[in-house]
Amino acid sequence: MLEIVRIPVLSDNYVWLVHEPDSAETMVVDPAVAKPVLAEADKRGWRITQIWNTHWHPDHTGGNADIKAATGCMITGPEAEKAKIPTLDRLVKEGDTVKLGDVEADVIDVPAHTAGHIAYHLPTEKAAFVGDTLFAMGCGRLFEGTPEQMYTNMRKLEALPDDTRVYCAHEYTEANGRYAVTAEPDNAALAERMEQVVAMRAKGEATVPTTIGEERATNPFMRAGSAEELAERRAAKDAF
Ligand SMILES: [Zn+2]
Repeated sequence: MLEIVRIPVLSDNYVWLVHEPDSAETMVVDPAVAKPVLAEADKRGWRITQIWNTHWHPDHTGGNADIKAATGCMITGPEAEKAKIPTLDRLVKEGDTVKLGDVEADVIDVPAHTAGHIAYHLPTEKAAFVGDTLFAMGCGRLFEGTPEQMYTNMRKLEALPDDTRVYCAHEYTEANGRYAVTAEPDNAALAERMEQVVAMRAKGEATVPTTIGEERATNPFMRAGSAEELAERRAAKDAF
């Protein structure tokens, strides 16, 4: 069983520090920065052996070089973005498997937020690291891709088991929810979730990870019935 620690950095990023006790391997997902990640690992007596990147954006890769310099860790990331992430050691794409100790992760291609964005699904842990593709009640902006691609991504992610915990890279939940309730005003599960989220945020609590089941019930982008509807909702959220 993995230990997964949330490290809040910058204004609203979450870096995930993941420890596999049998092998004593420790992995970082999308280190925006190095210092707080190295400090958290140090505090726990964990040695970072790997970094897994989901996409090239600097608030996901900015800590790569310094963490590697400090630990000698191996960095895995999207083959399609190798030119934009010069620190990568291992290039992966959909169909590839990466391992932390004996725990396997399947790589899933989820382009749209960036052209080569990938996600990591760990079936035995019921966990997925999705970067900026899927958020609680939201999805990533379409910087380098199309609504059709994001619609396909949503089909891939909703096919994971409902109890899969989804580790997003940002605390965007409350802002996403404020838009979501306007997109689906009759969705009772969404209204109820939004009430809980507002209360949690008022107490300063994190709302991530979410689950695939919660997103299937309340996420207006995963629930969009077509690429066209997803495009309309994405444009409306961008202007919200
Ligand atoms: Zn991003």
